[in-house]
Amino acid sequence: MNVSSNTSEAAGDKQEQTLKHYCEHHAECMKMIQAILDGEANEAEKEHFRQNMDKCMPCIQTYHLEKCIKETLHSKVERRPCPEKLVAAIKAQLSN
Ligand SMILES: [Zn+2]
Repeated sequence: MNVSSNTSEAAGDKQEQTLKHYCEHHAECMKMIQAILDGEANEAEKEHFRQNMDKCMPCIQTYHLEKCIKETLHSKVERRPCPEKLVAAIKAQLSN
């Protein structure tokens, strides 16, 4: 009655195979992030980055931080301010 082929799903014991907590090619990712945010990346680069972002925690954070900063700089009107805690936390990580 009870199919037991996928019991590991409920274990909550997954290794970090889906999301990396550090990036071994962060310099490249940073270039890509800047290019994308500056609108200079082509479709292939954007697609590559999207796929990479799914696995790369620091790059996700960097991307959102950079995007947030750029948006804040571009619009002097305060639309969506960056959460200061988030900015501080990410900056601390990046300077390590
Ligand atoms: Zn990365």
